[in-house]
Amino acid sequence: MYDIVVVGGGLVGASFVLDLINKNPNLNIAIVDRFAPDFSQNEVGFDNKIYAISPRNYEHLINLGVNINQEKIGVIDAMKVRGNVNSLIEFSKEDCQNNYLAKIIEYRNLLKAVYDQLKLFSNVQFIYTLLSKINQLDDKVCLVDNNGELFYTRWLVGADGANSFVRQHMNIQIESIAYYQSGLVANFECEISHQNIAQQWFSGDSILAYLPLPNKQISIVWSSDNTNELLNLNEQELCDAVSRAGGNSLGNLKLITKPMAFPLKLNLISKFYQDNIILIGDAAHTIHPLAGQGVNLGFGDAWALAQIMSDINTLDANKISRYNYSRLGEVRKMQMTCHLLHRLFHNRSWTVNKIRNFGLNLINKTRLLKKALIDSAINY
Ligand SMILES: Cc1cc2nc3c(=O)[nH]c(=O)nc-3n(C[C@H](O)[C@H](O)[C@H](O)COP(=O)(O)OP(=O)(O)OC[C@H]3O[C@@H](n4cnc5c(N)ncnc54)[C@H](O)[C@@H]3O)c2cc1C
Repeated sequence: MYDIVVVGGGLVGASFVLDLINKNPNLNIAIVDRFAPDFSQNEVGFDNKIYAISPRNYEHLINLGVNINQEKIGVIDAMKVRGNVNSLIEFSKEDCQNNYLAKIIEYRNLLKAVYDQLKLFSNVQFIYTLLSKINQLDDKVCLVDNNGELFYTRWLVGADGANSFVRQHMNIQIESIAYYQSGLVANFECEISHQNIAQQWFSGDSILAYLPLPNKQISIVWSSDNTNELLNLNEQELCDAVSRAGGNSLGNLKLITKPMAFPLKLNLISKFYQDNIILIGDAAHTIHPLAGQGVNLGFGDAWALAQIMSDINTLDANKISRYNYSRLGEVRKMQMTCHLLHRLFHNRSWTVNKIRNFGLNLINKTRLLKKALIDSAINY
């Protein structure tokens, strides 16, 4: 029997196990995923999925020995956020006395670095199979896979993403709010250097972010109602559209990674655990990507849960309940902030337009407000 089985070996599940096994190297842990990760193309170009990782989470990963290929990491030193009519907020690392605002890292680059570390622990097993059933027994959980094989564990952690199979087995209320938008992601080479400045444009119907990659390259996330139309453009038309929407600030763009789109929704669930099954990452919550906080919230869950699970012999319902309340509060705060920002900016009304542009300029002029905003973003 395992001490802990984690279903889902994505960034959050794998990083949780790495943190936990560093805290208690005697634990017997299995990571169950339906697919083995494929790192064969890691050195070729850039991944579609590229994330802004907060300094707190980046440094935690580095402290766990995660050795990320530095040549492919971008850094945000400053940020410019614009509304649609002459409104602007500018943040910089100096505003928060930090060395940087965020690191821009490929999903597969970071995941490989986490797996490389995990493989050093012989008591972490990797099982690649499709689960068909979860049976909750008195003091343990039994997982059954498609071949009828059984896996027993004292504790089960669901880190299996937004459509979590583990969560579906639990009797937990979920409210799903569809944004009726997708996030288009793609990477480009630019004519003009980005100077490590991230840029974001909030217009009435879309939110576009330019995230700096090394050299003259950027990754974009473009949340809009018209993603299908954008995906149907030819390469040159897409480059022109992205450049135009970004005010031609980086000159001509050249597409370097095939674009992809992800549907966006907000998942609010009433609690993150039931008996000895606990949820982390997107299995527990999803969020609009406008502030790049999804995986950062998941890392927050991972570090908090690893802290209480490392002492497995004293782990009980009280401790799990404390994990639940502390994370539920943090997560809900960020989910609602992003949801309200989305509502505010996804609105074509003249009055709302005036208010939001006034608001952006006001924040820009108010040092304390600006600092509070940056602190809340980088400390996740
Ligand atoms: C367009 C877009 C841009 C984003 N940008 C950012 C950003 O800049 N910064 C940020 O912090 N976040 C960002 N996010 C959010 C981020 O992508 C997610 O929050 C993050 O990937 C969640 O990680 P996870 O490990 O919880 O889930 P996932 O990455 O979904 O991993 C789940 C794992 O579970 C496995 N799995 C699924 N089902 C099963 C099953 N039945 N059995 C076994 N295994 C299973 C999968 O194979 C996978 O390995 C963005 C999201 C979108 C859509």
